[in-house]
Amino acid sequence: MSNTTVYLDNAATTGISESVLEKMLPWLKEGYGNASSVYALGRKSAIALNNARSECAALLGCQPSELIFTSGATESNNHALHIAAENAAKTGKDHIITSAFEHHSVLEPLKQLEKRGFRVTYLPVHEDGIIRPSELEAAVTDKTVLVSVMYVNNEIGTIQPIREIGEICRAHGIPLHTDAVQAFGNIPIDLHGGEITMLSLSGHKFHAPKGVGLLYIKRGTLFSPLIVGGGQQSGKRAGTENIAAIVGLAAAADEAVSNMDAKNTWLLPLRNKLIDGISKIPGVRLNGSAEKRIASNVNFSFDNIEGEALVLQLDLHGIAVSSGSACSAGSSDPSHALLALGLDKKQASGSIRVSMSDMTTEEEIDTFLEILPEAVQKLRVMR
Ligand code: PMP
Repeated sequence: MSNTTVYLDNAATTGISESVLEKMLPWLKEGYGNASSVYALGRKSAIALNNARSECAALLGCQPSELIFTSGATESNNHALHIAAENAAKTGKDHIITSAFEHHSVLEPLKQLEKRGFRVTYLPVHEDGIIRPSELEAAVTDKTVLVSVMYVNNEIGTIQPIREIGEICRAHGIPLHTDAVQAFGNIPIDLHGGEITMLSLSGHKFHAPKGVGLLYIKRGTLFSPLIVGGGQQSGKRAGTENIAAIVGLAAAADEAVSNMDAKNTWLLPLRNKLIDGISKIPGVRLNGSAEKRIASNVNFSFDNIEGEALVLQLDLHGIAVSSGSACSAGSSDPSHALLALGLDKKQASGSIRVSMSDMTTEEEIDTFLEILPEAVQKLRVMR
């Protein structure tokens, strides 16, 4: 199907796991009943739906009733911000705090809210790719209705101090939403502590299919649906549930959590090998903290190179990596996330992200490290 032999773009999406696919297939074939139908075929789907919700809740440390299945994290993020906006309308508050390097599925809805009169504070990101809780605390006002900060940045892979941020939010009585898409399966997530009010996940980042995600909304949060229609999911998210995808999400989530330690033990040396190998190329720098990052992601800037040209050059060798995030790749603008770290436009345009999964092999890393210096050299000579 493809000529890609070295797949190192797992932050963009992952391949579906064989065992997940097997668990989904019966729900695509004979188990096609509508979960809202009262006869046996429908009831079976409803049971699968409830089981999947309970499994996900147990993995995250919350109640099943606190979870909504969505079409992915774009919807989850939009929904979280919609809830904040509805609450703002009820309380007369109009201020939201976020970070400058959130995913576009947070930034774009925020832009719309700004047009409606909301004030948004974009916290600066420091050179290490991490925001400072003290700066968040200083930005809080009595009009703040939500803080939305991602758990792990999708381009740089740096881990944000979400617990500390959550404590500050709790002390001020402000709800905290976190986009945990790139954190789940890479670092532990536990909602028991209660400092997170809303959390978004996307199945295709951990070997579930595309088009399915989760939104956690803490019990007691003033709720407002984003998608209205039939009364599915207790009226919280209308639309006939995609049982096969939801079963796949729960199965993949279970695998991601059970395999997390083994995966990190496997990937950490590979990541260090990548950092060591790439750093040997002249005119290159690692973006973001070398320590406070997930094991599966590295992001580098190369002097005198266009990241997109490097991606295409590597593609000729069957290697898939990305420049910027997949959602904004294809736009010629340099990555907003890298600019937020303080890189200039040239450095930001000359970067690539290499992201692994538990399916990544050492052979893939070796092939990549063998081809990369030649590819960089070739592009620099051509300039
Ligand atoms: N947030 C982050 C941090 C992401 O990496 C992505 C996927 N690129 C999304 C949100 C959007 O997720 P989905 O593709 O499920 O809509």
